[in-house]
Amino acid sequence: MTSVPYDRPVSQPTLVDQVDALLAGPVPFPITQVGNPVLRQVAQPYDGQLGDTRLAALIEAMRTTMLAAPGVGLAAPQIGLSLALAVMEDTWPSTAASEVRERTTVPFRVLINPRYQPIGTERVAFYEGCLSVDGYQAVTPRWRSVHLTGIDETGQVLDEVLSGWAARIVQHESDHLAGRLYLDGAELRSLLGPAEAARFAADITPERAARELGFDLP
Ligand code: ZN
Repeated sequence: MTSVPYDRPVSQPTLVDQVDALLAGPVPFPITQVGNPVLRQVAQPYDGQLGDTRLAALIEAMRTTMLAAPGVGLAAPQIGLSLALAVMEDTWPSTAASEVRERTTVPFRVLINPRYQPIGTERVAFYEGCLSVDGYQAVTPRWRSVHLTGIDETGQVLDEVLSGWAARIVQHESDHLAGRLYLDGAELRSLLGPAEAARFAADITPERAARELGFDLP
């Protein structure tokens, strides 16, 4: 016998193959859902594997996917890529809760290989959701302020302090790239299923939810 087909290694598509396949398909991209192992992997760092043109096309398509969802952040594992890349943008109109959440306009930006460290010990807890846990929301404590490091899409080094809403998005997206979902740190008694997601939506703080569902706030 000269060859045994089933002994051949299964060839894995390279990152470039995966990105080219995505870019050849329709945008917005489908969003992976909790239970997909790609959401639980530590994403591989970006070190130029895609080249500038392909990276730019991927970022633009990720932005379109995020805005269409709609969401305020999207990490590459959410489109099936185990790559340390995320986009964020929040230019939606402010609501009654915006001030309490320290929700300010977040211009479009790209996070590559992002990491964060808490500044201080203050944590703030608000309802949070994720496009990969479709329809659900839960109260999630986050550091109020963080030190963000990494690079942007031009290779510029990121080294900055963020607070409030922008800090929450950075923590959520960076956690995706470490294989973590917001549910891992959420108060599970606060969980709202899709049919109940609007129940406390008009509340400025989660205090009524805490009383009615029986959980503590930090
Ligand atoms: Zn998410």
